[in-house]
Amino acid sequence: MTTIALVAHDQKKDALVAWAKSHEDALAGHKLYATGTTGGRLQAETSLDVTPLKSGPLGGDAQLGAMIAEGKLKVLVFFIDPLSAMPHDVDVKSLIRLAILYDTLLAVNEETATAVMKGLPAT
Ligand code: PGA
Repeated sequence: MTTIALVAHDQKKDALVAWAKSHEDALAGHKLYATGTTGGRLQAETSLDVTPLKSGPLGGDAQLGAMIAEGKLKVLVFFIDPLSAMPHDVDVKSLIRLAILYDTLLAVNEETATAVMKGLPAT
């Protein structure tokens, strides 16, 4: 079982929920976290057991960064919106920076997320 976090910016939430639905069986075998709003959508629209953190702009991104720094998060699926400015850009950058620093598997779009899931052991 791998610890996986799922995060999507607002304009990417539909895409993340659709991606999670199409990978539900594979994701179900892992321990799942999400930022607050993303997690709420996943809980409402999939059958996945997701632990929601705070909303990203309210500290959820920072919580995930702390998990990475503590060695508690192995995979980050982070559907970033490349077309919108984020008020919490500093948190987004910090999270990505920590994922790079700690060599976390980091998927920022669907094709990469799918490839990462294929590479994980089933349970
Ligand atoms: P959210 O956070 O899931 O609470 O919207 C996403 C983000 O980190 O921007």
